[in-house]
Amino acid sequence: MNTEIQIVNPEYFQDVQLEKACKVLRSGGLVAFPTETVYGLGGDALSSDAAQKIYAAKGRPSDNPLIVHIGREEDLHRVAKQVDGQARRLMEAFWPGPLTLIFHKKKVVPESTTGGMQTVAVRMPSHPIALALIRNSGVLIAAPSANASGRPSPTRASHVQEDLQGRIDMIIDGGQVGIGIESTIVDMTEDIPVILRPGYITKSMLEEVVGQVRVDPAMMEDKPRKDLVAKAPGMKYRHYAPRGRLTIVEGTLENVVPYINRILEEHDRRGEIATVIATEESKSRYRTSRVFSIGSRQTEGSIAAGLYDILRQMDAVGAEYIYAESFQGDRLGAAIMNRMLKAAGYHKINI
Ligand code: AMP
Ligand code: MG
Repeated sequence: MNTEIQIVNPEYFQDVQLEKACKVLRSGGLVAFPTETVYGLGGDALSSDAAQKIYAAKGRPSDNPLIVHIGREEDLHRVAKQVDGQARRLMEAFWPGPLTLIFHKKKVVPESTTGGMQTVAVRMPSHPIALALIRNSGVLIAAPSANASGRPSPTRASHVQEDLQGRIDMIIDGGQVGIGIESTIVDMTEDIPVILRPGYITKSMLEEVVGQVRVDPAMMEDKPRKDLVAKAPGMKYRHYAPRGRLTIVEGTLENVVPYINRILEEHDRRGEIATVIATEESKSRYRTSRVFSIGSRQTEGSIAAGLYDILRQMDAVGAEYIYAESFQGDRLGAAIMNRMLKAAGYHKINI
């Protein structure tokens, strides 16, 4: 399959530039497009065939459900049963934006879209290209992250090309995305909303709107426990992983830096390629040229935005061993470390 790439400027574009992509979506094809979180791989959410094509293109296990993206609030009622006052308040506060809500599904949503579940995850993205694409195509768009299953999520069109070139109909290149990590997922089917995946919208932001919010126990674990069945099925799979062995080194920088420097020497002696993921503040303290800055500790947003790109760079430089500092910021710390831990296969040491 030939994958057509179309460049669209998110700040200034005309609807005609999206016409071809809309046609592809209407006829059951797949289009990757930018959202404010990461690039999504879109297909008709109400078509079982299109959903199956998405799983096949990504190599994704078919029990890992897709998020349905809508362009207008009234479209929620086409797919979701029982939208209560709490959900309406959250939508009013955070839609369009990086918040996914889970409801009981209506019959029209095929089980191939929901990974066999009787619930459906829905979000209205705020990215202008994503919104225009959904609205103009007239279809509800199932869109998981546009990476090959298990690899870091794409934050640029070139990442999508690396993974899916030749496997999908089209890629809309709208430049680098803003947030860089996936949406916060909240289960609205229980009396008290439950966070299933942390993201840019934090627990305290949600609580300001609806009062009490719980966190899924599976999300709090440092390691996935077999007896805790994750309610967000994606949580049980290894994710975001670079090819090299990633280790997160926790502790004060006074301890972490010399520890990593010592390990780097050992790898060097053995002729192995080892890299460090550090920050603007700490990068000059490592005795290697293979140190990569993920962003500044002064701005958590820069760390979130740089995370997946840096994990992909580790593959590009052929890193066999990767040592990363821990990034426990106040606001996005939970969301960032959730991804880092998965990328590391939960391999973490405390110094
Ligand atoms: P991605 O599209 O890669 O951001 O992943 C979407 C994630 O949303 C999945 O891995 C699931 O964890 C979660 N999800 C989607 N639909 C549901 C649902 N009905 N119930 C629980 N979690 C869901
Ligand atoms: Mg994903």
